[in-house]
Amino acid sequence: MGEQCVGKTEAPFDECACVVCGDDIDIESWHPILADTDATGTFRLYPFCTTDCRDAWNSHRTNR
Ligand SMILES: [Zn+2]
Repeated sequence: MGEQCVGKTEAPFDECACVVCGDDIDIESWHPILADTDATGTFRLYPFCTTDCRDAWNSHRTNR
């Protein structure tokens, strides 16, 4: 899955699928990213295919 994209570019993260809808992201083009820590306190970057997905993820997080 995600491994197909790893190594294709020098992207500083290994995610290439939208964390909301799972769509592939063209990591060579601009796309929304949020930086946050996950449940274990590990710093992570969350990529999104569109700003709509970013907003959806954001509102979902703040509503927990
Ligand atoms: Zn998406």
